[in-house]
Amino acid sequence: MRGLLKLGSSFSGRFAWTDTIKKLLPKPRNRIYNLGACFELEDVVTHNPSELSDAQFLEYSNLSDKQHMREAIRNILVPRVVGTGNHTIVRQYIVQSLRDLGWHVELNSFHDTAPIVGALHFHNIIATLNPQAERFLVLACHYDSKYMENVAFLGATDSAVPCAMLLNLAKVLQEQLEPFKNTNVSLMLLFFDGEEAFEQWGPKDSIYGARHLAKLWQDQGKLDRIDLLVLLDLLGAPDPAFYSFFANTELWHMRLMALETRLSQRGLLQRYMSSGVSQHDPTRYFQPQATRSAYIEDDHIPFLQRNVPILHLIPMPFPSVWHTPDDNESVIDYATTENLALIVRLFTLEYLHGGVAQTK
Ligand SMILES: [Zn+2]
Repeated sequence: MRGLLKLGSSFSGRFAWTDTIKKLLPKPRNRIYNLGACFELEDVVTHNPSELSDAQFLEYSNLSDKQHMREAIRNILVPRVVGTGNHTIVRQYIVQSLRDLGWHVELNSFHDTAPIVGALHFHNIIATLNPQAERFLVLACHYDSKYMENVAFLGATDSAVPCAMLLNLAKVLQEQLEPFKNTNVSLMLLFFDGEEAFEQWGPKDSIYGARHLAKLWQDQGKLDRIDLLVLLDLLGAPDPAFYSFFANTELWHMRLMALETRLSQRGLLQRYMSSGVSQHDPTRYFQPQATRSAYIEDDHIPFLQRNVPILHLIPMPFPSVWHTPDDNESVIDYATTENLALIVRLFTLEYLHGGVAQTK
C-alpha cells in the first residue's frame, strides 16, 4: 500500500497533505449493528455493547496455537509474486488449510494486465463459514508479495503474517466458530490477490484483486452483506500503533482498545509491558486518538468508496522495513504477533455473539 498523507509532524515523507480525503470518505450508513445493539450513527451515545462474560473471556483468551502460527508463517513466507509457481503454492495452501477446517472456499478469478509482466491471472480467495449468511464480518489481507527486480522479496509483515493470523484464527477457534456455520451473521476471510504494484503505485497498477471484487459485488448487489471490512496489513513487527481512521467505525476501534485493556489488566498479553509496546505513550497498541486525515491507499479503498464500513488495522508509522529486503523473518516479533492475533480473535467472537443476540 501507499501512505498518501498524515496530519502531524512525526511521520515520514510517505505522507503528504491533500484535500481529497473528504471526497473519499464514505457517506455514513443510517445504522451500524454492534454487539447486539443497533445504534444510529447520529446518536452513538446509545451504543451499549454486550461484552464477553468473564468466564467466556478467560476461556477464549487461553486458546492459542503458537506452533501452528509459526508453521503458517513459514508456509507463506516465500516470494509469491502473482503468476509465479510459489504464488500458486501459497494460494493452494491457504485454500486447503481452510477447507480442511470445514470452511466453504471459492476463488474469484479474473484476468488483468500489469506493467512489466503483462497479462496475469488473479485469484481472490473467499472463505465463508456460512455461504448463505445474510451478513458478514469480513477479515481481510493480501497474499501476493511485491515484485522487486533482482530481489527475492519475502514480505513478512506485507502480508505473510496477516495471512497466517487469519489461518491461525480459523484453526484456534475451530470449535468456537462451528455454530456460525448456521447463523445469519457469520464470518468471511478474504485473501486479496494483486495488492502490490508491479512498476509504480497508481489507480491501474495496485490493488488488482480488491478493485475487481468491490466492483463485482457492487454489480451483484452483494456489498450490503459486508457489515464491516477489517483489513489487516503490515503486521508482525514489534511496537505497532493503531489509530481509528474512520468516524463510522470508531466504536469498533474502541472495542479493540477495550479488549487490549482487559487482556493487559489480567496479564494475558505476552511480554506486553516489557516489549516495544512500552515505548509508546500511552503504552498500548490501539491508540485512543483518531487520525481522520491519514489517508493510506490499500485494499480497502474500492470498498470504502462504495460505502462499506472499514476498520484498517495497519500500524502508523509503517514498519521501518516496509518494501525493503529486510521485511523477512528476522523482523517478526512472535509475542506481538500472538498478542494481536488474540485481540482479533476476541473481537471476532464478540462480534459474532452480538450478531446472534441481535437476530434472536
Ligand atoms: Zn506492500
